Amino acid sequence: MLKIKNLHAYYGHIRALENVSLHVRCGEIVSLIGANGAGKTTMLNAVSGLILRKHGEVYCENNRIDHLPPEKIVAAGISQVPEGRQIFAPMTVMENLELGAYLRFQKNEKEAVKRDLSWVFELFPRLQERSRQIAGTLSGGEQQMLAIGRALMARPKLLLLDEPSMGLAPLVVRDIMNTVCRLRSEGVTVLIVEQNAHASLNISDRGYVLEIGKIILQGSSEDLLNDGDVKRAYLGKDYKTFLEGRNGH
Ligand code: ATP
Repeated sequence: MLKIKNLHAYYGHIRALENVSLHVRCGEIVSLIGANGAGKTTMLNAVSGLILRKHGEVYCENNRIDHLPPEKIVAAGISQVPEGRQIFAPMTVMENLELGAYLRFQKNEKEAVKRDLSWVFELFPRLQERSRQIAGTLSGGEQQMLAIGRALMARPKLLLLDEPSMGLAPLVVRDIMNTVCRLRSEGVTVLIVEQNAHASLNISDRGYVLEIGKIILQGSSEDLLNDGDVKRAYLGKDYKTFLEGRNGH
């Protein structure tokens, strides 16, 4: 579904990604975990066409997409749920969802869009109850549902999720992760970026660990959850010791 080969990304002179390669197979949930500033968001933004200073190759279903603008990447079947939700706060829930289907209205897919709205409301009944509410007044968990719903309105084959658990209570995180599992069973492939490594590895098939712009580990989620270094660094214990160990101190 997604193949990234030797990707580098830059902000001015700063190299945020260095020679990153990864892949996501159709029907998988894949986690990308790493500490603050590791380059996780940069990675998703590079796939979505939001980072211009990059080189390397990105393929979606064997079509090269790294030269395409963001709207063509959405049309190719990739939607991103951005870090911090970035919903349109002054607009209603319904208006936010409709904007997610913007490209499809242009293509006269009104009937399909209607069906997808019902699908999103079935996944998130709370959004239907609150469809006329101003989005900025929703709770954090509801805003995350809206951000996911808005991305689904583009009918993606691949969903890029950037830190969906951020700032949410454990029970809400559990609900969001359950929904991600359900999406997979309904044919959506998922690449999820998380600092909450436990929550995302628990629902994913495989994972990659990103550190200072480089992939330093990869494997099945089960192996990563049981990996001593990952446990120490990302599953609640001593990150500093981990870094020192890796750097040979
Ligand atoms: P977090 O979990 O804190 O969101 P992250 O793993 O998503 O972190 P990125 O946001 O991708 O990390 O940042 C990777 C590196 O690129 C960091 O060193 C960051 O300071 C830098 N960076 C990110 N965005 C910009 C920008 N717009 N201009 C300059 N540097 C940036």
